[in-house]
Amino acid sequence: MGRKPPEPLIVEGKRVDGRSPEEMRKIEIKLDVIPRADGSAMFRIGDTIALAAVYGPAELHPAHLREYTSGTLRCRYRLAPFSVDERKPPGMDRRSVELSKLIRVALEPAIFLEEFPKAVVDVFVEILQADGSTRVASINAASLALISAGIPMRDFVVACSVGKVDGHLVVDLCGKEDNFSEADMNFAMMPKLKKVTLFQGDGTVSPEEVRKLLDLAEKSCMKVYEIQRGVLGEKFRE
Ligand code: ADP
Repeated sequence: MGRKPPEPLIVEGKRVDGRSPEEMRKIEIKLDVIPRADGSAMFRIGDTIALAAVYGPAELHPAHLREYTSGTLRCRYRLAPFSVDERKPPGMDRRSVELSKLIRVALEPAIFLEEFPKAVVDVFVEILQADGSTRVASINAASLALISAGIPMRDFVVACSVGKVDGHLVVDLCGKEDNFSEADMNFAMMPKLKKVTLFQGDGTVSPEEVRKLLDLAEKSCMKVYEIQRGVLGEKFRE
């Protein structure tokens, strides 16, 4: 972020991949892709692919970590070594630790954790391919996997990125846009309850632009909600 792009990223209103500023990339969802998990989902947006697996609720060990009035949500985000152009060393780095926490913070308000005291729900997210906006793809994949696992939820959690690229306010930044953006923001919300669970980002924008970006993020999240709802509706009708 913040670097000057070698070439314009928006020409005559078209972005590097041909989208308009308010257009998200194509979304594809597959549920129950990991049979041994309690719930799982693949969420693909453009060339970013996130796979989420949910296990639990199960008794939390070691016992001193147990909460007696509430359950515990644990999230782990990881970029696969082959998910980026230059092989990434396996294992957790500082970015993975930070993103794991952000994903947990975005999901936690939607879960009735008080319904399973002393227990833990584990959410593992693997990014199989990264092309920008991996944390919001992770939140969408995790929300689908949690609902599919039957974890008691107040609402879905839907997420998208917004930002400023080449002087334009845009939704769903791809990798190239992320690298050269003037601002990059991540947004998650519970769509039925109309509550924002994550709004985080950096860059240089005016307060007026932040308001516009929030508006754009909400509109885009509602589109993601329609897609998530459609896919889960099909599963539960079956
Ligand atoms: P997000 O993926 O949520 O937008 P970042 O802003 O940290 O998070 O990363 C932006 C993009 O940069 C990622 O989606 C990915 O395409 C790329 N990226 C992140 N980490 C690496 C890495 N270690 N090596 C190569 N590319 C990376």
